[in-house]
Amino acid sequence: MIPVNEPLISEKERKYVLDCLESGWISSGGPYVERFEQLWAEYCGADYGVSVSSGTAALFAAVAALDLSEGDEVIMPTFTIISCAHAVLATGAVPILVDSDPTTWCMNVDQIESLITPRTKAIMAVHIYGHPVDFDVVTALSRKLGLAVVEDAAEAHGATYKGRRVGNLGHISCFSFYANKIVTTGEGGMVVTDDEELAHFVRNYRNLAFRNDRRFFHTEVGHNFRLTNLQAAFGVGQLENIDERVNRKREIGHRYTERLKGLEALQLPAQESWAQNVYWMYGIVLQDDCHYDAESFARALREAGVDTRPFFIGMHEQPVFLQKGLFMKDSHPVSERIARRGLYLPSGLALSDDQIDIVAEAVTNALSR
Ligand SMILES: *Cc1c(COP(=O)(O)O)cnc(C)c1O
Repeated sequence: MIPVNEPLISEKERKYVLDCLESGWISSGGPYVERFEQLWAEYCGADYGVSVSSGTAALFAAVAALDLSEGDEVIMPTFTIISCAHAVLATGAVPILVDSDPTTWCMNVDQIESLITPRTKAIMAVHIYGHPVDFDVVTALSRKLGLAVVEDAAEAHGATYKGRRVGNLGHISCFSFYANKIVTTGEGGMVVTDDEELAHFVRNYRNLAFRNDRRFFHTEVGHNFRLTNLQAAFGVGQLENIDERVNRKREIGHRYTERLKGLEALQLPAQESWAQNVYWMYGIVLQDDCHYDAESFARALREAGVDTRPFFIGMHEQPVFLQKGLFMKDSHPVSERIARRGLYLPSGLALSDDQIDIVAEAVTNALSR
């Protein structure tokens, strides 16, 4: 079976993690945490990086930092990971959902403006499967109306938008370093920003809002969202090879596209002229006239020894929200279609060229049946 994601780990990660073991710095104290934060912020061209325990924690902290009130509205894509919606709801604010762009599968930025109300306080933009959101539209609306912009770049480490690296396109940006992300710490995340106050908030929020002046005396809410020195050491090792990692992802993407571009039954990942896709996961969407849907196609590939994963299911189709009466009137046809007809192929960094060719052949064969 060719796995959907096999992580790639180098000698550097081993060396730095061993260094933690030998030095005894295994909790969130220790030199690698700050080093990882500095290197990552620098990579994103941002002033501050605050590490956290996951991408989900990064989103919770970033949205909490916006100081939203009950009933405020945050415009966000329906087609994303559920963490995005939970982070907004946790503050008492309401997610207002936007459908997907049929080409990039990111939020359709042309739908944002008509959804703005006096209660709109922020836009959350999520780069999907490695392709950036068309950010200029988001930035223009944010400037015109004074809205905060949260960027979720968990799936797009190293991608660029109009020549600028993602991760500092909004006011506050979130990353995940889960095992299948381009740079990983096993579990982990980071909040990145140029805003000193936001960075300070997140630093405090991730550490139970302990005060410097009086131990165990709390005037604000916080959580334990800390990253460990062990994880950060692993991350520093990964970061030292980030260009190779991002380039290899792009090579994998290009090789798949080269092999699959003749297949009319498939929509392949976008590569808009204004962006550089890093192909975090190589997604394919089965055209409407194809006799397979994502589920039956995944079964056919599994029989051929190829593992896949289905696409996200839109937030407006999630029972956990519908049960609470949220998104009841929402209809987002593009998201609904790609949720049923989309899946992603093995895309891990340990994938060999031969494996890519085997997967491409399995896809081609299955479609010809
Ligand atoms: C992976 C991911 C997250 C969540 O990250 P975790 O580290 O798994 O909590 C958030 N947003 C997006 C877009 C992701 O792909």
